[in-house]
Amino acid sequence: MAFNLTRRKFLQTASLAAASVPLSKVVSANTGVTKAPLDPKGTAGDKTVVGGICEMCFWRCQLVGKVRDGRLMKLEGNPKSIDNGIKICARGNAGVKLLYDVDRLKYPMKNVGKRGAPKWKRISWKEALDECGSKLKSTVDNYGAQGICVFPHGASAKYPMHYFERAVGTHNVSEASFFQCRGIRDTAYVATIGKAPGEKVDMPNTKVLFFIGDHLGENVHVSHIKQYIQGLQNGAKLIVADPRFSASAAKADIWVQIKPGTDTAYMLAIMNYLVKNNKYNKAFVEDHTEGFEEFAEAIKGWSLEKAAKECDIPAAQIKEVAEMLAANAPHVAIHPGRHVSWHGNDFQRERALACLTGILGAYYVKGGWVPPKGPKVKGVSWAKEDHGHKYNLNFNHEEDEKIYSNPPPGTPTELIRDCAISGKPYPIKSCVVWGQNPMQTIPNQQKMKDLFNAMDFVMCVDVMPTDVTAWADILLPEASYLERYDYIKKGTQWDLSKEHQQYIAARMPLVPAMFERKDQVYITNEIAKRMGHAEKIPVRTIEEMVDKSLASANLSIEKLKAEDGIHIQPGKDPYGIPEDFSVILYNDDLEDSGHPPAPTYKPVPGNPKGFARLLYGRAPVHTFNRSQNNVWLNNAMPDNPVWVNDEVAAKLGIIDGDTVGFVNSEGVKSRTTTTVKVTPGIRKDCVYMYHGYGSANPLLTTGVGTGVDDQSLITKLAVDPETGCHGMRNNFVKLIKDGKVLDIPA
Ligand code: SF4
Repeated sequence: MAFNLTRRKFLQTASLAAASVPLSKVVSANTGVTKAPLDPKGTAGDKTVVGGICEMCFWRCQLVGKVRDGRLMKLEGNPKSIDNGIKICARGNAGVKLLYDVDRLKYPMKNVGKRGAPKWKRISWKEALDECGSKLKSTVDNYGAQGICVFPHGASAKYPMHYFERAVGTHNVSEASFFQCRGIRDTAYVATIGKAPGEKVDMPNTKVLFFIGDHLGENVHVSHIKQYIQGLQNGAKLIVADPRFSASAAKADIWVQIKPGTDTAYMLAIMNYLVKNNKYNKAFVEDHTEGFEEFAEAIKGWSLEKAAKECDIPAAQIKEVAEMLAANAPHVAIHPGRHVSWHGNDFQRERALACLTGILGAYYVKGGWVPPKGPKVKGVSWAKEDHGHKYNLNFNHEEDEKIYSNPPPGTPTELIRDCAISGKPYPIKSCVVWGQNPMQTIPNQQKMKDLFNAMDFVMCVDVMPTDVTAWADILLPEASYLERYDYIKKGTQWDLSKEHQQYIAARMPLVPAMFERKDQVYITNEIAKRMGHAEKIPVRTIEEMVDKSLASANLSIEKLKAEDGIHIQPGKDPYGIPEDFSVILYNDDLEDSGHPPAPTYKPVPGNPKGFARLLYGRAPVHTFNRSQNNVWLNNAMPDNPVWVNDEVAAKLGIIDGDTVGFVNSEGVKSRTTTTVKVTPGIRKDCVYMYHGYGSANPLLTTGVGTGVDDQSLITKLAVDPETGCHGMRNNFVKLIKDGKVLDIPA
């Protein structure tokens, strides 16, 4: 049982997890994981191709490919990398299986059936591009540029996204990574320290790691995991606040089994304790914060006891955490989190994290939050044009002000959906989906279907079929990250305290694109020509885009190849606080916009009687829905067992391995079922499952219907009032077993 895992054992296990794992055909006695065939012995004579950059997730580890007779046999970390090094994760390894997935999109297709129930007909690229160009142009001619909405995701979506935003001129662009993931974090930190935080905490050199909801280990990004493990090996204390005994909680010195939605109350009590007891960093507060007096006044009501009651945790434990942070400040790494679209009160939680870091003085210091100083490389894309805000849905024209004061870049998804479905304040009639799967990233699937049904034209570009591609009129096959060039990847060495080095890499193809797959520059340019924007095209080919960008750093594709795919140069000392750096503890601009100027706790809806709160998260061997059809990864983790508290399970009469379905508090039932994992490692008022399972698209012959699609149960919408981003953890479910709906005991 995971509760008994020692830190030493974990460190061994985690090091292995982050290392390059050859997936030979064995069943591990320890893990029970069945691994799929690959012959690593054959790699000795293979040609090594440099320049790969992984995109099984967005972390973009640097790769080399082992190629035999033109076929990619194996992926490895690039030994020259000062980021991931030779290590790649299980998903990175399994990129080979994505490349050769038999279900991949191969040719342009036209839907001659219905949206949502398609019949596909293979067509030529010319026919497909003519149709995309003419339909999109017709939308612009009849309704204006704002008549197009765009749902992009991933590196390849950047160039087309810029085209539609900058050259065509629509504001109606919504990225899942902003409005359903990390956008809240970024804008909350911008409102506090003037910049997005990334995950730039100096974990290897910290004394205390503080995670709120982060589950590193299940959320695997290679260099980040290296930093985390190094920090623990160096003796850092770990505090984890999570309703669930996550992979991180299992290694924690203090596990705070907090009630979901109450994190801000928890941090307010910690900050108030530090202020009241003079345990904050006075010198830093004096030199580098604004509004401390007002901030202290605003949070003064948050006693340990009040927060303990709200968060359902002991007051003594809150004090213990506050004392541990104070005793080790400023060398404390308070992680800003990544996916933070939880409850619709998340901007305040992220502001609280940023302010807590501030009063501990943990910015720009060893072991604190430190933005590494990477090299400068200029991007190349479509020229920016000013299209005004007349058609910006996030603008109240009568009041001449924004509706959501602190949105991430783009337009809040809900504003686009409401406009597209109602036709007010103006019609949206075409939809471009590029690398995103809004059916499984955006809550309320019915509303997403309503949007597609309101369109005159829907086009999707992707590598694989997904649940959203079934709603396309035209479906275009994109070259995968292993078959094309792409934007520059740059950064610094993973451990900031080591010698200061910077790197520049560019994604280069490891093998040529097969079938009729094309890259993003080709597809976008051809559509642009047909929409009358030929004169605005910034680069003719994707190679030209990369070469132009590299030229700004005195590099080229050829030079990079000669340097094994990665250029390394001396870096700069990342520590040392800039003189003008300031933490805005009390933000008057927020007050002027009608929001709390100091971090403020807003309670979230409680559980309806008989329901458990549905929590979701990442699996270490999957990247949400994108990897479900990957044969190796599916073998490793074929479904997403639901975590149910052991006492609750006993009362319901369910045992480990039982098969269950779900119904949510709005009466929506899951299409599929999954198994039960009975555990004391989850609060009684919650259930938990990994996100991205249960695809509905039958073209995914491996991933269809495996596990349960958590997103299908997330129908109740919460919208963060400052940002317009979604909160997705205010949904509640009952289990269904053998056709019987089971009430969750109070
Ligand atoms: S963390 Fe894994 S999946 Fe993500 S880029 Fe690195 S190797 Fe690829």
